Amino acid sequence: MNYQQILEDVYQEIKPFEKDGKQADYIPALAQVDPDQFGVYLNILGGEHYSLGAYDTKFSIQSISKVFSLAIALSILGKDLWTRIGKEPSGSAFNSLVQLEYESGKPRNPFINAGAIVLADVLLSNLENPEEFFINFVRTLAGNPDIQYSQEVADSELSCSYLNASIAYLLKHHGNLENDVADVLHLYCMMCSVEMSCKDLAQAFTAFARSNEPFSHAGVNLTVSRVKRINAIMQTCGFYDEAGEFAFLVGLPGKSGVGGGIVALYPSKYTIAVWSPRLNGRGNSIMGLKALELFTTLTTESIF
Ligand code: GLN
Repeated sequence: MNYQQILEDVYQEIKPFEKDGKQADYIPALAQVDPDQFGVYLNILGGEHYSLGAYDTKFSIQSISKVFSLAIALSILGKDLWTRIGKEPSGSAFNSLVQLEYESGKPRNPFINAGAIVLADVLLSNLENPEEFFINFVRTLAGNPDIQYSQEVADSELSCSYLNASIAYLLKHHGNLENDVADVLHLYCMMCSVEMSCKDLAQAFTAFARSNEPFSHAGVNLTVSRVKRINAIMQTCGFYDEAGEFAFLVGLPGKSGVGGGIVALYPSKYTIAVWSPRLNGRGNSIMGLKALELFTTLTTESIF
């Protein structure tokens, strides 16, 4: 398969859509990002890789961080985690409050904000230095010691995280947060602020694609069974209220973030990360979604 040619064909086909949508601006620092960028990095397990555009430019991973915090929290609590967070798709926006109220403070899944705020609480309760632990975990997964938090993006989000604060207070009211709301929100926003490139993300996600070679770091064990479950949740919940559409059009487990990044994987075969900041109304990258849809169409490789 000529993957490089396929990436180039994909890019040509999606170019007409390059001005559609706009970057996230509810986090003031993200509004400053140049929206007209596109990058993709394909990592075939076992060695070869292919790339195009701004694949090496770092961007805000935002909700993609939820996959990393889930891996850590699941390793800490095991199946007890599911007493505090569900594993059903929400069908609602990533920052919706409604369902959380109906369901008495138990978030539908770990990949909506409410769920990831509980994950941050688990990390705070169980790790001596959660911020340091988290960034070291991500650096090890990606094999890149230069990955950093963006204090600027974290502060920017914290300065106006009224909706996430409401979610956190509702969780606290229902007894689903052990720590102070301010501390949990701080860690949550720090984790969202991590900056990585498509190349870093494609590398980091190989741990979730290579289930036959369990990954382990400082007590976090991505066993075959955990990787299988994390992939199942990516498949059903990775794109908020667009998870069904992503499964339908792309057909791979994946995770998106409002920084415009999307990572997807084909178990035992490859990982692919795309980035383009302009988003659709559901907070997913327009060029990124189109690129992945075309990629799985042109390669005719599907997990289904
Ligand atoms: N930090 C963002 C928020 O909480 C993450 C959302 C996202 O990427 N979907 O709103």
